[in-house]
Amino acid sequence: MDNCIFCKIVRGDIPCRKVYDDDDLLAFHDIHPVAQVHIMLIPKLHLASLMEANDSHTALLGKMLLSTSKLAKEQGLNNGFRTVINTGKGGGQEVFHLHIHIIGGNIPPMVRRD
Ligand code: 5GP
Ligand code: ZN
Repeated sequence: MDNCIFCKIVRGDIPCRKVYDDDDLLAFHDIHPVAQVHIMLIPKLHLASLMEANDSHTALLGKMLLSTSKLAKEQGLNNGFRTVINTGKGGGQEVFHLHIHIIGGNIPPMVRRD
């Protein structure tokens, strides 16, 4: 996809601080981290969001989810981490190339009840 910023990162047209790379996946530091650790995990295949995913992507999505723990541990998040997938405009997605946010450090519970 010519104008997709994450496809440009996959192609090397835009630099990133890479933390993982294989045939299917790329992970790199988010440019605007919201916590001590904030990694973007993306498929190299352009897939706009979870709404565009179908049965042909089962293995890829499984591989992404299973990679999160390994990446989080490599970043020192031995005590746990948060994964976020924003989907579509209604889900607050801004970059329309599927990605999992891996976030950790000193983060509060997501939902406050006070
Ligand atoms: P979304 O809101 O779509 O779920 O998340 C997109 C994320 O991509 C944001 O956290 C944003 O900071 C990150 N991002 C956007 N452009 C770039 C970029 O060029 N490089 C990197 N490393 N992260 C980016
Ligand atoms: Zn893309």
